[in-house]
Amino acid sequence: MTSSLDDARTVLRRTFGHADFRGLQAEVVAEALAGRNALAVLPTGGGKSVCYQVPALIRPGVGLVVSPLIALMSDQVEALRQLGVAAARMDSALAPEERDATWRRLAAGGLDLIYLSPEGLLQPWVLDRLSAAPLALIAVDEAHCVSQWGHDFRPEYRALGRLADLFPNVPRLAVTATADARTREDIRAQLRLGDAAEFVASFARPELHLSAERKRGRGRDRVSALVQARRGRSGIVYAGSRKGAEELAESLDGDGIAARAYHAGLDKTVRRDRLDWFLEEDEAVMVATIAFGMGIDKPDVRFVIHADPPASIEAYWQEIGRAGRDGAPAEGITLYSASDMAWAFERIRRSGAPEAAAAVQSQKVRQLYALLDGGACRAAAVRRYFGEAVVEGCGVCDRCRHPAIGVEVTKAAQKALSAVHRMGGRFGRGRLVDHLLGRTKGVSETEAAMSTYGVGQELSVGAWRDLIDQLMFEGLLVEDPNEGRPLITLAEPQGVRAVYRGERQIMRLEPEGGRQKAGKADRLGRRDAADDLTGDDLALYEALREWRRGEAARQHVPPYLIFNNETLADIARARPRSPSALTAIDGVGQTKLGRYGEAVLEVVGKG
Ligand code: ADP
Ligand code: ZN
Repeated sequence: MTSSLDDARTVLRRTFGHADFRGLQAEVVAEALAGRNALAVLPTGGGKSVCYQVPALIRPGVGLVVSPLIALMSDQVEALRQLGVAAARMDSALAPEERDATWRRLAAGGLDLIYLSPEGLLQPWVLDRLSAAPLALIAVDEAHCVSQWGHDFRPEYRALGRLADLFPNVPRLAVTATADARTREDIRAQLRLGDAAEFVASFARPELHLSAERKRGRGRDRVSALVQARRGRSGIVYAGSRKGAEELAESLDGDGIAARAYHAGLDKTVRRDRLDWFLEEDEAVMVATIAFGMGIDKPDVRFVIHADPPASIEAYWQEIGRAGRDGAPAEGITLYSASDMAWAFERIRRSGAPEAAAAVQSQKVRQLYALLDGGACRAAAVRRYFGEAVVEGCGVCDRCRHPAIGVEVTKAAQKALSAVHRMGGRFGRGRLVDHLLGRTKGVSETEAAMSTYGVGQELSVGAWRDLIDQLMFEGLLVEDPNEGRPLITLAEPQGVRAVYRGERQIMRLEPEGGRQKAGKADRLGRRDAADDLTGDDLALYEALREWRRGEAARQHVPPYLIFNNETLADIARARPRSPSALTAIDGVGQTKLGRYGEAVLEVVGKG
């Protein structure tokens, strides 16, 4: 069916303004055009939406898109309208008149794409109306939400399996940015995709520079320093709690950073305002809980900092993945601690999840911390986790840039483990370190007489704390959060015995050639799309942005929906003088040419 794929390329060029498909897009589109189901896992920024939008425009009927969040839907619908595509969303936030108008358009065959939430879609009367309209395809976006093995399970997604019976002849596409093999299997089973072809793109995101470091204390000062060092760039800081997000935003704001907090506890209109602010401001830093999530499609987010670690590698990848969507270098920096890990296990324990689910979640926590505290290339570790057989390192993460060497510390580990044993698991880190160094204030006679008291003179306080943390990451010690007064006890007797006997070695990772200077090495070469612009080109770029700001404000849409920075930078470089020269630029399709061509050419003419 090469001719249909050619049709698809024409639509891609004329409507979306892209010269050709990227990565696996063409294969997924071909599958849908042939009327077959498919499951596609493409990394964030990989162009998932094109995979269903293009075939929806080509096949007769309306394309139905199931999406979990109103914010996601409205963003996509707005972007499609900018492209001149007849798109609408149907959700509870709409006024009844608007909904009626949309149903009328649908019945009259006047819609190319309609976006619905799963619960909205599965209402009987909605299904009735949809069955009356010919459907081009059904796309299930963020399909990992169907799986309880994924990190974002939404029970209402489960019911989408019914679509297989309701619309047996309509091709269904499940798309997501994160799904390990198990989640993919679950998506296939739950959505009843049968033997649908599976497309899994590489998870490589070479523009992302990943790093992770252990927290000192709560790590807030470090977060401040990291953000300050990135002054002038837009970024997201993830905090583990609402209160944490508020406090951090306030302290950053006090330091003169344009920072706001975002979390589910805020009033809806406040959230909307802050989201708009973030999307519009070049230098905005959002300090948020994971409530600030899907649908954050701002292309020029330059860093994502986890002030508190994510819940799993999937969550890590999705959250970090919000940086660098424009393809220019961006950073993902994660701060973590053994206490964070202990809390993660505690939360699972308290969630009352069924045993099997809790076991999977705990496994995911262990895998996450193995990645964060491990010595391997971060990007390679993520890719292996998602099932890719990667051997080479990314070359840009902290582990690749500062390879670590292992130093054996088994003897010290034995001392620490026996100290925990002797002390009966009733103490926290600080007290254990004092014990090992023999400097416990007002030490009792019994304690002073213990064989482990004062045996640890060879290491400093910091080194002992690090080692105790490491023994937790390795699962030899566990921390009981104990409502904020953590207690450390021995874990897994077999492993501990193996260390005592010297059968299991404990290695500490040390950066080759000494400790790296924190923060300094993290500067990125290129700031954004326009970094190479100078002189008149830069002035033109700024003039185009000024024009875009006005246009965006007039239409009440985020500026990047008009044209993104890459497109404006390309225009500033190429200085097109005619409509045809302007459409040659990526991101300028027919509709945008019609709407903005004249204005843009005028700005270029003056520049
Ligand atoms: P995802 O939903 O997978 O994160 P999007 O569908 O939002 O990604 O696309 C990410 C960006 O890539 C958008 O700016 C989009 O315009 C652009 N894009 C998608 N497909 C192509 C393509 N074939 N060529 C050039 N740019 C593309
Ligand atoms: Zn690497």
